[in-house]
Amino acid sequence: MAQNTFIYLDYAATTPLDPLVKERIVALPQLLGNANSIHAFSDTSRKLVANAAQELASLINVPSKSIIWTSGATEANNLAILGAARFYQHSGRHVICASIEHDSVLEPFKQLAREGFEVTYLKPDKEGLITVSCLKAALRRDTLLVSVAGVNGELGTIQPLQELTQAAHEVGALVHSDLTMALGKMPLDLTASGVDLATFSAHKIYGPQGVGALYRRMQPHKIHLAKIMFGGLQQDNMRPGSLPVPLIVGMGAACARLLENRDELAHLKRLDKVLTERLAAIPGLIFNGPKSLDRRVPGLINFTITGGDMNTGLLKLVPSLAMAYSAACHWDCRSSEPPVSKVLSEIGVPERLLKRSVRLSIGRFTTPQELDIAVTQLADLGKKLINKA
Ligand code: PMP
Repeated sequence: MAQNTFIYLDYAATTPLDPLVKERIVALPQLLGNANSIHAFSDTSRKLVANAAQELASLINVPSKSIIWTSGATEANNLAILGAARFYQHSGRHVICASIEHDSVLEPFKQLAREGFEVTYLKPDKEGLITVSCLKAALRRDTLLVSVAGVNGELGTIQPLQELTQAAHEVGALVHSDLTMALGKMPLDLTASGVDLATFSAHKIYGPQGVGALYRRMQPHKIHLAKIMFGGLQQDNMRPGSLPVPLIVGMGAACARLLENRDELAHLKRLDKVLTERLAAIPGLIFNGPKSLDRRVPGLINFTITGGDMNTGLLKLVPSLAMAYSAACHWDCRSSEPPVSKVLSEIGVPERLLKRSVRLSIGRFTTPQELDIAVTQLADLGKKLINKA
């Protein structure tokens, strides 16, 4: 099927590159010196990198020297979790994470378990919320690290990050948060929230694919991390490798766009409201996770369409809508069917409904007309399936 016959409703998997971000990348000089060399060409690169760090830092209210550039959120999550646990293991070997985290968080925790750390998984409530009381019940005096994403990537549930952080700090544990899905969808003030480590990715905020960042708290004491990759001494000896200057410039530009464009959230909320009202009228449609925008970021909606033969997944039934079917975007595309979602199982969605569940996500370039077509197609399908049930 040609790309233009699809409607793109998968902004949470990756966003289109913003034209202004692209313009900033294309305008770069053809020769960008290595940011770690010592000559005039490198001065330019260093300035560009410093400027991008400031653009991200301003968006999340932290000092720019607390930014470590990575290849994306996967690497930042690995560096934060493995790096902090291994560096501070003398102070405790108990670690905690939410059971509904992205695989790039869950897998480093599995690795820590193989290394002899004791891992506790926090169970969410029916809306995907990790409550402070659930965390408090799991915290121990030897808890070293807690990791809870600020916004769940499949349900959009907003977690009480500041309260969770406070509770963890009371027992002296460090807090990491994967903020990949939160950036640009809600105001973030990391200095106020007090988190020690936080992860970001450019391609979820209209920046280029292949670049991300880890925020590491520097005040009142610098958080140390054991290296997970070995090479040069770049980035305070935390992350070796030459810096990808064009990608970093792109990530900075994407952050600057978000800072300038604060009305975007209000626009997204309006689209979300209309969309959820229309979806709610579809026969057999059930929402998963929070329906209310007080507890969910705008533009990320998870639902199930029931009825008919439950073995036929939604991917086959509405192929022209580019959405995330069941387990969102961490699917090995060589397998023929997307795996069912662990997140939905964790919040109690029955197994027979998993294949019928989707994450629909919209963003900056979504038009009301596209949503109209999508809702009409889903409504037709809902009616057909109910009649077959
Ligand atoms: N965390 C979350 C919540 C995500 O949605 C993703 C991307 N699917 C990642 C981490 C990994 O991001 P990246 O593609 O930048 O490695």
